[in-house]
Amino acid sequence: MVQQADQFKKVISHAKEYGFVFPSSEIYDGLSAVYDYGQNGAALKKNIREYWWKAMVQLHENIVGIDAAIFMHPTTWKASGHVDAFNDPLIDNKVSKKRYRADVLVEDYVAKIEAKIEKEVAKAAKRFGAAFDEAQFKTTNPRVVGYQEKAASILKRLGKSLEKEDLADVKALIEELEISCPESGSRDWTEVKQFNLMFGTKLGASAESAMDLYLRPETAQGIFVNFLNVQKTGRMKLPFGIAQTGKAFRNEIVARQFIFRMREFEQMEMQFFIPPGTQKEWYEQWKEKRLKWHLALGMGEDNYRFHDHEKLAHYADAAADIEFRFPFGFKELEGIHSRTDFDLVSHEKFTGKKLQYFDPERNENYVPYVVETSIGLDRMFLALLSNALTEETLDDATQRTVLKLPPALAPTKVAVLPLVKKDGLPELARTIVDDLKWDLETAYDEKDAVGRRYRRQDALGTPYCITVDHQSLEDQTVTLRERDSMQQERIAMDHLKKLIVDKVSLTSLLQKL
Ligand code: ATP
Repeated sequence: MVQQADQFKKVISHAKEYGFVFPSSEIYDGLSAVYDYGQNGAALKKNIREYWWKAMVQLHENIVGIDAAIFMHPTTWKASGHVDAFNDPLIDNKVSKKRYRADVLVEDYVAKIEAKIEKEVAKAAKRFGAAFDEAQFKTTNPRVVGYQEKAASILKRLGKSLEKEDLADVKALIEELEISCPESGSRDWTEVKQFNLMFGTKLGASAESAMDLYLRPETAQGIFVNFLNVQKTGRMKLPFGIAQTGKAFRNEIVARQFIFRMREFEQMEMQFFIPPGTQKEWYEQWKEKRLKWHLALGMGEDNYRFHDHEKLAHYADAAADIEFRFPFGFKELEGIHSRTDFDLVSHEKFTGKKLQYFDPERNENYVPYVVETSIGLDRMFLALLSNALTEETLDDATQRTVLKLPPALAPTKVAVLPLVKKDGLPELARTIVDDLKWDLETAYDEKDAVGRRYRRQDALGTPYCITVDHQSLEDQTVTLRERDSMQQERIAMDHLKKLIVDKVSLTSLLQKL
């Protein structure tokens, strides 16, 4: 656990030191849970977004993309249920005066039980060696079975009380589990209260005529209100999807985990419109497809798991999270929700307008059902960064820090380095940059010894470095160094572009899907 907390600290400081993520308005001491992306962060974020967009829109004939406004008519949020139900249960500790999400306190308690299970499994795996059967161990070891039952029963009770809005029982649960404030250690808690997460603002010049608005807490509603516009103008036939990426805003109660939980963040969502009755099948298909998108990045199958929701949101008939092993444990990275016809029916009620589709095969009009996939771009960024950051001890006992990002997503694909700053090497290196830059994000660096320049590119996650030396002037070859293996190869300059493009292009990643 200490090691993991350590890793998380390293990720945060690496992100800052190498121009990935800065605290917002840092010269004013920052703004809580708001962050800015620096020169490398913006590039990485753009590449993740592009990977998502191309996988969803470009590779699916029946999915189109839109870009709806952040401001929406305020009644949208009445219809969507956000005005009445977009609440988190909050609780204050009377001693530390710190505010917590009551459900998260309980979930963290359960995570500790799960950590104990993992520890038991690891211990047994070591003891039994190759003969170890994890599944069997988990169902037969009395201690582990006990832990599992305890965790499940706590989550079940939490789910039930939240669903019934029985906040007194949530508090009772916190007391029964003897959960104390992580800050003060005190168990003196206030009552649990509901807190609405939407940010309000005003539209209009004068105080009297101004209209109360909300900053959108999810991008999905921009898609629902445009369902008919897109369906009609695009002559879309069911099943079809509408995708969108964009900012969302939530006044999160607890926003302490760097870019994991922010107050302003970016979502990548896709709403897939389907005939009623087919939702189960599409829900399973989208779960599988989205997991595949993650696995193609090569961050390790063991680092993902599905978590099926016990407590369903007011709009859903099934929901699951794809969880990722962050440095602070398994947490939600993406949600896949079967949203029924809740949103469209509700917008019909509030607008008095029909939001239906004529199905020529069934020969009837109906309100489509929806399966959505919803992923936080910033959370995906954090997953990548924390998985990629590696410290290695080399053969010569020196250390190197390397960011093993999937090459297709790396901010810079190739750095061109003249061995020395004279003898015509910089000029030759520049001609290589001028050739590569049309197809690849290319950097040029001539400062410091070449070994230090390699280290710097390693820390930025640059998959390839090209070194131009005196031999290059004679025979038009250069050294190509690969980030992870540090292997160096002599390559003819003419072959560089094709060789690197083949290894780092988004196309090669998309072809794995
Ligand atoms: P959580 O349970 O962590 O609060 P959620 O279930 O409210 O998340 P959704 O409403 O399903 O999240 O949003 C979809 C995705 O948007 C999440 O899977 C997550 O990746 C991302 N997301 C949600 N809230 C935030 C936030 N405050 N900061 C960054 N990303 C977020």
